[in-house]
Amino acid sequence: MKIAKKVLNLLKEVEAVARENGAAAYLVGGPVRDLLLNRGNLDLDVVIEGDAAQIAKSLVDKKGGTFVVHKRFGTATVTLKNGIKIDLATARKEYYGRPAALPTVEFSTVIEDLYRRDFTINAMAIDISKKQFGRLLDFFGGEKDLAGKKIRVIHDQSFIDDPTRILRAVRFEQRLGFKIEDHTEGLIKASVKRRMLEATGKERLRDELILMLKENEPGRMIKRLQALAGLGFIHPKLRFTKKSEVFFNEIKKMETKGSEPWLIYLTALLDGLSLKEAADVARQFVFKKNEQERLLEFKKESAGIIKLLKTKGKIPLSRLRRHLEPISLETLLAIMVKGRSRLVNKRISIFLSECKGVALKMSGEDLKKMGLPAGPRFKRILDAVLDAKLDKGFKNKAQEMKFARRCVKNGL
Ligand code: ATP
Repeated sequence: MKIAKKVLNLLKEVEAVARENGAAAYLVGGPVRDLLLNRGNLDLDVVIEGDAAQIAKSLVDKKGGTFVVHKRFGTATVTLKNGIKIDLATARKEYYGRPAALPTVEFSTVIEDLYRRDFTINAMAIDISKKQFGRLLDFFGGEKDLAGKKIRVIHDQSFIDDPTRILRAVRFEQRLGFKIEDHTEGLIKASVKRRMLEATGKERLRDELILMLKENEPGRMIKRLQALAGLGFIHPKLRFTKKSEVFFNEIKKMETKGSEPWLIYLTALLDGLSLKEAADVARQFVFKKNEQERLLEFKKESAGIIKLLKTKGKIPLSRLRRHLEPISLETLLAIMVKGRSRLVNKRISIFLSECKGVALKMSGEDLKKMGLPAGPRFKRILDAVLDAKLDKGFKNKAQEMKFARRCVKNGL
């Protein structure tokens, strides 16, 4: 097993701190999977047979950075100065305690922790204590499933206990190019038949859905989810159609820097729903207010904007700005895909490169110095100056000031 030097040293430091505090420590879950697969993953999940909060504090005392303790869950998250995150969880010995004579007792607390996990490939641990450093703990055949590229649950109740694992199964399968093994697929189908997804907390489903849309190939994720479970648990009318697939593919080809691409994908996913239906989804799944606004904005605004941007003749930059500045970047990018018109795309590109975020060099302070009393007039004048700056290509503050003075003189 190859472990990057940086991670190796860090693990040794975590172990040293744990040992000083009389606790054993194990690397668990995702990072173990990714280490065995040789996939980069710098964030570490560590299970402590001891007090996670105390270890987090000692680690930060030693290495700097910050930590947050989640008392209710017995977990703590350390963020080091270089941005690496370490999640520490307490394995509760007294609760899970077993007779000391049992052969598995040495790991009993870690086993309990691993047994609660979703899939065999996510349920392995690496002992990072000095004596046994690097020893793999694999109680459920995770290593074999990694080799066979299989997503397999640990026990048959898994999708009944937690149906969000259906989305997780798809996410890992599609991300890693694995296959949900037949028995596990049967269990998913059984859980779907019992309408377990409909009975699951919408906020947890939303979080998993967002994670799917943040993956490299969100289109493949949603298509597979639809085939396995349908999308009715999001909205009864929701379908991932050929059209949605094209929409997704076009988004993938686009430069999305500065935006939240998962929101553009979700916009595309909800494209077939009416405004009211999409609004129901946004509300029921309790997306943040500004996410809800951006999700619905596309439905409300895109037709009008596409119409405007298709008009023949010149559209001055100031007019582009007035119409497009209030629109989110996610919506503009979705419109570029949906508008399917070179003119629309060209105009949005022009807006993004030449208008968006352009600010004046002068400010309200300068108007005050001209002797103008502060009031709504300020905004009118500064808006007019910004329009003129865009349309006439002002380069410096003097040009802006000159134009502002003219506005004042003309009684704007
Ligand atoms: P990623 O690479 O996407 O971060 P990860 O495996 O670290 O993948 P997380 O969603 O961060 O995934 O979860 C961390 C670990 O917690 C998983 O490896 C898994 O063992 C466990 N886990 C997370 N969610 C569940 C769940 N719903 N049921 C059971 N175990 C879960």
